[in-house]
Amino acid sequence: MADAKTDKSGSAESSAQKSVQKPDAEWRQELTPQQYRVLREKGTEPPFTGKYWNEHADGVYRCAACGNPLFDAATKFESGTGWPSFFQPIEEGHVGTEEDRSLFMRRTEVHCAKCGGHLGHLFDDGPKPTGLRYCINSASLDLDKEVK
Ligand SMILES: [Zn+2]
Repeated sequence: MADAKTDKSGSAESSAQKSVQKPDAEWRQELTPQQYRVLREKGTEPPFTGKYWNEHADGVYRCAACGNPLFDAATKFESGTGWPSFFQPIEEGHVGTEEDRSLFMRRTEVHCAKCGGHLGHLFDDGPKPTGLRYCINSASLDLDKEVK
């Protein structure tokens, strides 16, 4: 309600997005209990249990909460961790990061830039060309398979 003045015409903000904000009760209704636990409560699904860790289909992985495109299947790689892993987001500005000091560790938390939903964590031991590893919960993702 406070950010009504965001319309700056003339600037080339290609990935400017409307943020999605909903009351907690609405998320609770729309998401499965597992999705809610991960996306809204920053939970982590057990490895090798999610539906996408071993998925190899082409397509676009969207945010399970708001549909925001997050990762291209072409950037998914075998990390051996049991979680879907990507070496880069589909577009700058679609995926946000934040320092996470919970559990006595320093990690980088990854979230959907549109709805703020928790996705997973970012590590710097990924493959080339980025060297990054976005370790993402399947519960946060919804694969939009490419139609050929
Ligand atoms: Zn989202």
